[in-house]
Amino acid sequence: MKNFLCLVLSLFPLWAFSQAGSDIAPVKSLLINNVQIFNGKDEKTITGNVLVVNNLISKISTAPIPVNRSGETIVIDGKGKFLMPGLIDAHMHMVLAGSTLSQMQNGEVGAAFIRAGEEAGNVLQRGFTSVRDLGGPSFGLKQTIDAGVIPGPRIWPSGPMISQTSGHGDFRNINQRPVSLGGCLDHSEQIDAALIADGRDAVLVAARETLKRGASQIKLCAGGGVSSVFDPIDVSQYSEDEIRAAVEAAADWGTYVTVHAFTPRAVNKAIAAGVQCIEHGQLLDEATMKLMGEKGVWLSIQALDSEGREDFTAEQKQKKADVANGADAVIKLAKKYGVKMAWGTDVFFNPAINKNQNTYIAKMGNWFTPYEVLKLITSDNARLLALSGNRSPYREGALGVIEVGAYADLLLVDGNPLSDINVMVDYDKNFVLIIKDGKVCKNTIR
Ligand SMILES: [Zn+2]
Repeated sequence: MKNFLCLVLSLFPLWAFSQAGSDIAPVKSLLINNVQIFNGKDEKTITGNVLVVNNLISKISTAPIPVNRSGETIVIDGKGKFLMPGLIDAHMHMVLAGSTLSQMQNGEVGAAFIRAGEEAGNVLQRGFTSVRDLGGPSFGLKQTIDAGVIPGPRIWPSGPMISQTSGHGDFRNINQRPVSLGGCLDHSEQIDAALIADGRDAVLVAARETLKRGASQIKLCAGGGVSSVFDPIDVSQYSEDEIRAAVEAAADWGTYVTVHAFTPRAVNKAIAAGVQCIEHGQLLDEATMKLMGEKGVWLSIQALDSEGREDFTAEQKQKKADVANGADAVIKLAKKYGVKMAWGTDVFFNPAINKNQNTYIAKMGNWFTPYEVLKLITSDNARLLALSGNRSPYREGALGVIEVGAYADLLLVDGNPLSDINVMVDYDKNFVLIIKDGKVCKNTIR
């Protein structure tokens, strides 16, 4: 990573940002000539040129765009390659992904955050310019990335996942009492990976506290989990009224609640309470998918591997397989009922597979055409990000699209993912130009 940044800095001293967050002047304008433009929405591409001024797209034209001769415009020859919006992952855990569970719970906190910072740079190098963080202490990471201290994607943070005692976000061991019964905060709660709250009043406080810290949406655990030890996958968590408390707190701040849930019981309760997005949902039935379509509730889906982590118990491995196998039927039902879908990877506590993030894009090709996949990971995911309203941290321009006024978050691909989605997998080789917020983060065009 360090070597790569040095290379970039030496090649493009005016536009690259340094690892130390120096005060190098931002680019005034950047012209990318001769590219095949996929705008994130339309299947048909156009061959043309794109002008970026500061951090926004200022002009898109099939005709040559005149260059500012003062030397303030950097011109890049795109050589006919495929320009698309930067990728969006709608379900990540930016801090939890950098460590194993044991490293997070038993290791030095500082080490976990440094690993997360290093991994944030890797996420950007995989072409992801925006991510929604669905649980974990990501506020500080977001702030340091936004300030240019370290490279990384834009982050829509949820902050700690809010969980009931015994729920998916309860990381305590079997002998630890909950705080409300005289116990101490668990390490996961101390570092804001999770926030355990039981009862309407406590859920209200938890949601309000998380919003105060800068959450762009509230993440609540409403049902059993794969990776959590004590909650079987079939259980539902939180009463309807507890969930509604979080929904009210979020609505007062102009944003929404999304829940971790797999089963019809958990999801129907969440929908009744006013939840607008379901994370996972791989065990849902037809009636629930139909209801989600009717109510306009989002499904944030993942194409998981069926094998579990090395540290999983046999029971956890079985849960993972059941969930992974459920995706096929659920995605087909979601398409049948016109459910709004977003896509994410949800990899955490397994740093060895972080580098596979882009393989999950190709896996979506099992259910979607390459065009549908590209739209899903750009403009569709951006529509879900927009659900945060005024709590969205980045509201200056549109995201997930190439259009005038949109953020200049761009990816130049060597190959045509509209004809072969597998081009997205080898990001190191095929992503030859990555631009975030108008700044070049990678350029290997040759
Ligand atoms: Zn997750």
